[in-house]
Amino acid sequence: MGKHQLLKYCLILSFLFTCLNAKEPYDYLVEFSKFGCRAIGTDGHRNALKYIIKNLKNPEIDSFTVDGIWLYNIYQKFPSGEPLIGIGAHWDSDRNCPGVNDGGSGVALLLKLADTLTKNPSDASIHLLFFDGEDVERAELYGSTHFASKCLDRYSFIIIIDMVGDKNLQIYKEGHSTKFFPALTDSIWQIGMEIAPHIFIPVVKYYIIDDHIPLIKYGLRAINIIDFDYQYWDTVFDTLDKCSKESLDIMYKFLLKIVYREY
Ligand SMILES: [Zn+2]
Repeated sequence: MGKHQLLKYCLILSFLFTCLNAKEPYDYLVEFSKFGCRAIGTDGHRNALKYIIKNLKNPEIDSFTVDGIWLYNIYQKFPSGEPLIGIGAHWDSDRNCPGVNDGGSGVALLLKLADTLTKNPSDASIHLLFFDGEDVERAELYGSTHFASKCLDRYSFIIIIDMVGDKNLQIYKEGHSTKFFPALTDSIWQIGMEIAPHIFIPVVKYYIIDDHIPLIKYGLRAINIIDFDYQYWDTVFDTLDKCSKESLDIMYKFLLKIVYREY
């Protein structure tokens, strides 16, 4: 076998190896769930922070303090052309809660997207936004407020995902999103309904206080995608067994359509 042929085989093998080893969103969730509670100021919080950074490529770390406790927003930016789209999720959890679906599911999807966008860039600019301090006691929204209060980027829109990995996934339109941005919310649900009509339901069921609220307050076009019928949120029962690979795969497919602008 000639040198060139050997090199070719090695490249094919390494490509196959990379493909076989590519993590799926659920694999990230399994790893992320091992940190347990990720409430600010805890060991779980510190370990989860290290894990997220390790799985990104030179992310921006935007740190700040609340009552003497350090919080960390993490931004993975993929600058390209227009438009600029943000996908956000919070990575902390409520005190004493494992927050596997609440917070964890969004992180798993953002990490998978980061990997995909590194290998296959989009024509649009994509910012993946990991917010801290959403859930300190009850929806304090520290990270998203910190981000929005000094944001100078001109986002076309930002989608906040939260509690999107549970087995019985049903995503109704969120009230504030629909009230402030009816056309945007309609078009995003249209994308979801084409992929999973049993999951994306084009009817408002709840008005939620989540990371989209400070963004809207500061003039950003932000909407919230959440399964608020998930009964285990902010409890010790929000664990991996309540989540499913299938739900995360559907959400990943949906997010791919958005970041690659297939709509
Ligand atoms: Zn949450």
